[in-house]
Amino acid sequence: MIPRFKPFLGLQEFLQIFSKSKFNVEEFEDRFSSLFSVADSVAFPYGRSALLHFLSTVGVSDSEIIMPSYSCSVVAHSIVLSGNTPVFVDISIPDFNMDTDLLETSFTKKTKAIVATHIFGNPMNLDLLEQLVKRKEKEYGHKIWLIQDCAHSFDVCYKNRSVISSGDVSLFGLNISKSMTSVFGGMLTFNDIELADKVRLHRDSKLKKPNIMKSLKRRIYLLAVFFAFSSFFYSLTYYLQTRTKILKGLTDSYHLDEKIHFPEDSNDIMIDFEASIGVLQIEKYRHMIKTRQQNAATLHSKIVTKGKLKIFPPIEGSTYSHFVCLADDKSDLMKKAEKKGIQLGEIIQYSIPSLPPYIEKGKAFPVSEMASKKAINLPIHPSLSRKDLNRISVLD
Ligand SMILES: *Cc1c(COP(=O)(O)O)cnc(C)c1O
Repeated sequence: MIPRFKPFLGLQEFLQIFSKSKFNVEEFEDRFSSLFSVADSVAFPYGRSALLHFLSTVGVSDSEIIMPSYSCSVVAHSIVLSGNTPVFVDISIPDFNMDTDLLETSFTKKTKAIVATHIFGNPMNLDLLEQLVKRKEKEYGHKIWLIQDCAHSFDVCYKNRSVISSGDVSLFGLNISKSMTSVFGGMLTFNDIELADKVRLHRDSKLKKPNIMKSLKRRIYLLAVFFAFSSFFYSLTYYLQTRTKILKGLTDSYHLDEKIHFPEDSNDIMIDFEASIGVLQIEKYRHMIKTRQQNAATLHSKIVTKGKLKIFPPIEGSTYSHFVCLADDKSDLMKKAEKKGIQLGEIIQYSIPSLPPYIEKGKAFPVSEMASKKAINLPIHPSLSRKDLNRISVLD
């Protein structure tokens, strides 16, 4: 079975499970900064905690924060938990990012920040974002924080300009489903050292040192990931995922869409074991992204469809955290793919304004609603072989 995603872990990461941590959190932050050419990076236990603590460091509360309606629900949760209100903007196709035509009218005098998500590796228009934020700051006479959500896109470029060189801060998620991992973990990067220092001080005063069980738990978790994703065991993982509720129970404790809720350890600092895995992944980062882009190019050139799958032309610069298509009948396509030994992913199965805590009457998000029903992602991860890609390119 070809898995819908697969972390790119090797022998070095495997050996790290059984030995003393090779690197510490500061070293991970420094390597992260040099990899992406930013002034500073500050590590957190999750991407969601990073956003929450950034907002409280800069004192944004009782305000409106603009974000896409089609994104990971934890972003909206962070906004609410920081005492603010998310203002959702519908997305547009083919990049699945906020519809820039709808952005302007989403600002009000209460807007204090915008989370610009570059989803699935697809960059938003940076020129437009920066100009709009500047214009609105002038109009309202206060600072509007431009937060680049790069959890799916890391240092993707818009017209040769890296998204993380733009805005006040960039946000990264580092769990095992992301383009690179530190087991769990999140990171903020800054181009302004003073702001980074403020956030680091705030973090050090608010987060707590975990007990030693965290190190043991994370090691066991990563070991389980190695087994679950090995080609030998993946059919069993797939069975548990699709036919039983065992794995769902595990992932739901980290990710509940129905409730605004963070895991218990979301205020525990990142540990050196996670940082060490992160550093080992940084060493492969360029290779992983290049391979994703090559795999996407191969799929784009080879894919044949009888019309059940809507495929979009390549997006310039995309780093392809996911290769997303639309299908009118997702479950039919998934069943057919399963018979061929391919697992398709249902990347984001909700439009956030339709989730119970966010239901709002009178506002419609038709594109995001449609995407939540029809979006499907094909395997694109760096460990796919040419043969795998050939198989994936004939689906319906
Ligand atoms: C994964 C993700 C995050 C951060 O998630 P955590 O699980 O809290 O690390 C933020 N934004 C988007 C769009 C994501 O996909």
